[in-house]
Amino acid sequence: MNITITDSVPVVKETDVIVVGGGLAGVAAATAAARQGMKVTLIEKTIALGGLATMGHVCVYLPIDDGNGNKVYGGLAEELLHVCIKYSYDNLPEVWRSKPDTAPKDSERYMSNFNIPAAVLALDEFTENEGIDVVFDTVFSEPIMEGRTVKGIVVENKSGRTAYMAKMFIDASGDSDLLFRAGADTETLPTIVSHWFHELDFNMIKEGLEAHDMMHVTPLRWLGLVPSGGAGDDKEDLTCYGTTSEGVNKYIRLSRGLALDFLKKHQSPEFCMISMPTIPQFRMTRRLIGNDQLKYDGEYHIEDSIGCVIASLDKPATVYEFPYQGLITDKLTNVAAAGRMVSAEGRGWAIMRFIPACVLTGEAAGTAAALAIKEGTDLLHVDVKKLQAILEKNGVKLHRTKAMEGNVPEPRKPGPRPRLSKMYVHTDPEDNVRTAGSGH
Ligand SMILES: Cc1cc2nc3c(=O)[nH]c(=O)nc-3n(C[C@H](O)[C@H](O)[C@H](O)COP(=O)(O)OP(=O)(O)OC[C@H]3O[C@@H](n4cnc5c(N)ncnc54)[C@H](O)[C@@H]3O)c2cc1C
Repeated sequence: MNITITDSVPVVKETDVIVVGGGLAGVAAATAAARQGMKVTLIEKTIALGGLATMGHVCVYLPIDDGNGNKVYGGLAEELLHVCIKYSYDNLPEVWRSKPDTAPKDSERYMSNFNIPAAVLALDEFTENEGIDVVFDTVFSEPIMEGRTVKGIVVENKSGRTAYMAKMFIDASGDSDLLFRAGADTETLPTIVSHWFHELDFNMIKEGLEAHDMMHVTPLRWLGLVPSGGAGDDKEDLTCYGTTSEGVNKYIRLSRGLALDFLKKHQSPEFCMISMPTIPQFRMTRRLIGNDQLKYDGEYHIEDSIGCVIASLDKPATVYEFPYQGLITDKLTNVAAAGRMVSAEGRGWAIMRFIPACVLTGEAAGTAAALAIKEGTDLLHVDVKKLQAILEKNGVKLHRTKAMEGNVPEPRKPGPRPRLSKMYVHTDPEDNVRTAGSGH
């Protein structure tokens, strides 16, 4: 194609929907739009799909049931769980394998760990089968605006600076990069530092061999800094912003410093680390302040709900409904948020960043973008009833059922939150305090 917006920034593609960011939310958004017949391009900064869930080593797909035997997330949130475990180990309880809507009340949670390389390969295959044009190793840098409408985006990759034009855009960058630069209101928070990796040690290998359990052989280790930086007057500020170069670099240094401290302490001929996150593990960075947001305090029935969400670690988990208006802003006509940056404040933000909730909002954003194009309208005027009908037909649970209404989580006991028995995440509080001056 020879259209150019400037001599130095040629337009290389015109399409229906562009998704920025190929984490699980972006994959869901792209898939949902493609399944509605749209031509979709997905722009991803790294060389793999999955985002935090793969390159960030958060390979634990947290529960999609309420802890009382009721499935809360259907649709792509359920489908992508099964894609992630398709080609390697899992610890999905057998009772959920055939994807039933309900299971006995005391069933184990509908969740699974997954193997990162196998999930990356399965996501490649999945998106190819869906006809999505995935462009790796490409960073979104700026929007091309016409009033409140994004007409295209400028990206940077090995070919230089080029432009991609589309009718609708979905920001699934995790950090609201597109929304923020296009003029949406956003909120930014610092995050605490983690370092998750897989390890091998002779004892675990022996136990794993005896149990014939691969996950036991290669467990996931979770290191995380205590935000206060431990005791003493010389406390460092151990939080970082994921939206500035300084913040990202500080995070990388602290995170790898934590890993080096751990290695120095545990160095042995019988132990080694076998993997390393290749994107920083930022939890919450910058979110959209949308036209509405998740209400997690008392208001349960949401008329324009695009699906139910839970704080996945609570048992039983209170079930909330997420409003369509929480994906969009009046400031922009054709950009929707998807994933860990949708509109939700306080505890609501923490609820919306669990993997199943990210996939749900991706599915809704992609479907809404497609519907807007088909109806010749914009995202602010989408017929929400029609959107809900499509989502429901595709398996999304729009509203709480009677069975979910009475869920009240058991009160948290003081001290660290108990791990879900099958998370296979090893953590020792002693390894998680970085004292000033240690590491590098
Ligand atoms: C330490 C930690 C532990 C967690 N534990 C769990 C857990 O056990 N279970 C669970 O369910 N959830 C957990 N979470 C939350 C969960 O992993 C994430 O919130 C979720 O995976 C986010 O998905 P996403 O697609 O919204 O965003 P991301 O996974 O962040 O994906 C964003 C994608 O956009 C790309 N991108 C970013 N900027 C650009 C750009 N400018 N141009 C192009 N591409 C760009 C990135 O490379 C990435 O691929 C945890 C998170 C952290 C950090």
